[in-house]
Amino acid sequence: MTDKNLNRRQFGSDNYAGVCPEAWQAMTLANRGHVKGYGDDEWTTRAADLIRDVFETQCEVFFVFNGTAANSLALASMCHSYHSILCHETAHVETDECGAPEFFSNGTKVLLLSGENGKIDPAAIDRMVKRRKDIHYPKPRVVSVTQATELGTVYTVDEIKGIWSMCKKLNLRMHMDGARFANAVASLNVSPKEITWQAGVDVLCFGGTKNGTAVGDAVVFFNSELAREFDYRCKQAGQLASKMRFLSAPWVGLLQDGAWLRHASHANAMAAHLEKSLRPLPELKILFPRQANSVFVELDAPIREGLWKKGWLFYNFIGKGGCRLMCAWDLTEEDVNAFVADLKDLLLSAKS
Ligand SMILES: *Cc1c(COP(=O)(O)O)cnc(C)c1O
Repeated sequence: MTDKNLNRRQFGSDNYAGVCPEAWQAMTLANRGHVKGYGDDEWTTRAADLIRDVFETQCEVFFVFNGTAANSLALASMCHSYHSILCHETAHVETDECGAPEFFSNGTKVLLLSGENGKIDPAAIDRMVKRRKDIHYPKPRVVSVTQATELGTVYTVDEIKGIWSMCKKLNLRMHMDGARFANAVASLNVSPKEITWQAGVDVLCFGGTKNGTAVGDAVVFFNSELAREFDYRCKQAGQLASKMRFLSAPWVGLLQDGAWLRHASHANAMAAHLEKSLRPLPELKILFPRQANSVFVELDAPIREGLWKKGWLFYNFIGKGGCRLMCAWDLTEEDVNAFVADLKDLLLSAKS
């Protein structure tokens, strides 16, 4: 890495960003003196209480190290090994967790659903469940939805409720992978309860890492029956942090004065600005509706490589292809403008 690029903000992922000041400040405060371990501390109690305030209900909250652990352990708590989990074909639990959901549930099979723009079509759930009724088929038990989706789109309240009605009809539970839940809430401008427990979500994996913490995602059980012995599940999986306060304190920082939504709104606004700057360029094709903090765009290989050569980082293998330009909480309009200027230069020289 050259010095010049050392601190450049990028479009690779929102986990490229550092820790937000609110989370950092809370970590500093949590670092004073001695505190009991394993979550038996005031920071962890306060963080869980703040999450209950956010959702306006008595949910049960657990902090684990990352999103893969959150999803896998949450899903494992929702099914037996002979069950199946239904998710979109581009879902992180299917494509980016190295089989952890299957592993932690002792073999529960993941079945893939289709749907436009990274969202599950309720009719696809019906088809998958009714395809087979016999004992040889892994019994469908959970639908996992990602909010915001892997393609940067967002399920509306009605869309989540549409999936819920299908789940009720077919006796399925609903899990939500909310690695970018904050971006979805900011985008929809709804209260968090409207797109979770009031729309049928049993368990939410609430992401902090992509929105400004260093580490630590929350597993939020709206269905408390499913939370039974979840603490043992976490411990066995190596997910019970000894110095738990350093996972929970950042959440206090994020939640206590609304920083989580400010940061997510800002990231969304940067993606909107990026989209607005790219739309007028006729050589480019924007791939999905931009509803959260990423823009997917088709870039010819020479342009893509030209941008990489200029030091910009972004991926071109996520979801359904195209280049994913992910905007983090700390991205600035100047960063976006600098990227767009380089892109325009490359397009211009490609023409001549
Ligand atoms: C980042 C992400 C996760 C969590 O990934 P970890 O690297 O395990 O923290 C889960 N779901 C989605 C959609 C993500 O983008």
